[in-house]
Amino acid sequence: MANKALVFVNDADAAAPLLAAACANFDRVLLATNNPSLSGADETYLYDAGATAVQAVPAVTSLIAAQRPDAVLCEAGADGKLVAGYAAAALGTSPICDATSVSFSAEGLEAARMVYGGGAVALERSAWPAVVVAAPGAFEAGGAVRTGEVHTLELSAPAGVRLLGVEEAAPEKKVNLNAAKCVVGVGRGLGSEENLPLVEELAGLMGAEIGCTRPAAEEEHWYGKERYIGVSGCMIKPAVYLALGISGQVQHMVGVNQAKTIFAVDKSDKAPIVEQADHVLIGDIKAVLPRIIELLK
Ligand SMILES: Cc1cc2nc3c(=O)[nH]c(=O)nc-3n(C[C@H](O)[C@H](O)[C@H](O)COP(=O)(O)OP(=O)(O)OC[C@H]3O[C@@H](n4cnc5c(N)ncnc54)[C@H](O)[C@@H]3O)c2cc1C
Repeated sequence: MANKALVFVNDADAAAPLLAAACANFDRVLLATNNPSLSGADETYLYDAGATAVQAVPAVTSLIAAQRPDAVLCEAGADGKLVAGYAAAALGTSPICDATSVSFSAEGLEAARMVYGGGAVALERSAWPAVVVAAPGAFEAGGAVRTGEVHTLELSAPAGVRLLGVEEAAPEKKVNLNAAKCVVGVGRGLGSEENLPLVEELAGLMGAEIGCTRPAAEEEHWYGKERYIGVSGCMIKPAVYLALGISGQVQHMVGVNQAKTIFAVDKSDKAPIVEQADHVLIGDIKAVLPRIIELLK
């Protein structure tokens, strides 16, 4: 099995599966992070917690160029992709982004990722060195990790980039749809913002996290982007997924098709989700939701 992996991750939830996979498959594991609460590698390179990935990239790239890891495993999202691009250039390879599963062998790794808007899965192989951006759920959490030294990674000012100021984003409730056992998904069929309290009441009674479709987040702005599920959002594996007013287009369904049981409520018996869900209730959400809530109570 391969020698050395470098994991780039700042998010605590993403760190556990990435570090577990690295420790299971590599003799030596290095971690580059700005999150002081993370551990689990043979060596941790910790940089300033307030620094952005853009500010960290020159130092992380120099570390990668000096250490020449066989694999660089990056967390999902813009920061992971930014580091992956620079890491691949430093190692003379190409990054594989949005990998939904990764397997390792002595020669290299094989990663699956969705293509054609979720219509197909491409299997890509890379010899060592390999650089992968892992989608949430690509690796399982758990498994033995390591303990080791913590070094400070000094940051140098990135050429051509000046920090003009920092503006705090409004605090969002942290969602971890990936780990949720029960998810209520909201689609455009919900009709109006006024019905959101009903969804929240139902989710509370079911002990469910709330997810949504891309239009419910990006067009209707009912929920933040971190809650939309599908090929360009997050992938979930709950025991129960309840889809409310979701037509069931492939770009959404690829994100939920690992749910054990899918329930759907839709007013149209022609909606594609009718064919894909395990249990379907045909009806108007405005009438059905209060009734389900009443029954659950
Ligand atoms: C490249 C690309 C990537 C994409 N990525 C994603 C992605 O990651 N995630 C994602 O979700 N989408 C994604 N999309 C969009 C996707 O193709 C669909 O447009 C989207 O999933 C549809 O969202 P929806 O089901 O909420 O809305 P709609 O398709 O409009 O469906 C609404 C449903 O609600 C039902 N309905 C309407 N009124 C009521 C009522 N009163 N009571 C009950 N039911 C009602 C309708 O019958 C219908 O079935 C992507 C598209 C592209 C092109």
